[in-house]
Amino acid sequence: MKIVFMGPPGSGKGTQARMVAEKLGIPFISAGNIIRDEIAMMTELGCRAERYVKIGELVPDKVIIEILLANLPQFFVLEGFPRNIPQATLLEKIKPDYVFYLYLESPDIIQRISKRKLCPNCKMVYNLSSNPPKTPDICDICGSKLTSRVDDTEETIKKRINVYENETYPLIDYYRKREKLIEIDGRGSIEEVHDRIMQAVEGIKGTARKELGLNSGFVSLWLKKKV
Ligand code: AMP
Repeated sequence: MKIVFMGPPGSGKGTQARMVAEKLGIPFISAGNIIRDEIAMMTELGCRAERYVKIGELVPDKVIIEILLANLPQFFVLEGFPRNIPQATLLEKIKPDYVFYLYLESPDIIQRISKRKLCPNCKMVYNLSSNPPKTPDICDICGSKLTSRVDDTEETIKKRINVYENETYPLIDYYRKREKLIEIDGRGSIEEVHDRIMQAVEGIKGTARKELGLNSGFVSLWLKKKV
């Protein structure tokens, strides 16, 4: 199964993609996390990417593709890629099965991002009002000290929303035309949005069950292994 999550910055696509990957038992891949790791490790690719991330622009396709496509497993839940039409054209070779699009308006986006904290170790994401850590500034999962992202400043958030609208948003139509798009309302709590996504996943399973005449255990297996 190859699932892609799309949505504006702060739509919760990373959090939701991670939860779906855990439920389906397939790897979760985040383009942003991979880039942040490369930057933290000061690799050659990380050094090439850093200045773009800091100002909220897209890293050049050549760099992100080199980092990402070489390391994609056979099945995955991917977020943060593709971010423009040329990247989507490249991903066509890998043939994503479904693209979940979480939609959210600008005021909600700014409100969410300005309260975001990230664990630099296990990559867990928190929100200081809707999903705070149990101990202030400490990751519930691995105990590391939480940080803020360098690109979560007001100015950079505005730039990222702008880049999203101009470069990434056209992909919604691209995937809609290819009948791969599943649109999900991104408003509400993490659990509410997750329930909406899982209802859609159940819908996919139901269709598969009917089409293939399989029982639900086999359908789960089929979903995982679908190519
Ligand atoms: P994210 O964690 O998805 O919000 O990504 C953070 C930053 O990483 C973006 O603002 C870009 O600078 C860079 N980035 C992440 N994914 C991509 C991509 N697919 N193409 C280009 N740049 C990316």
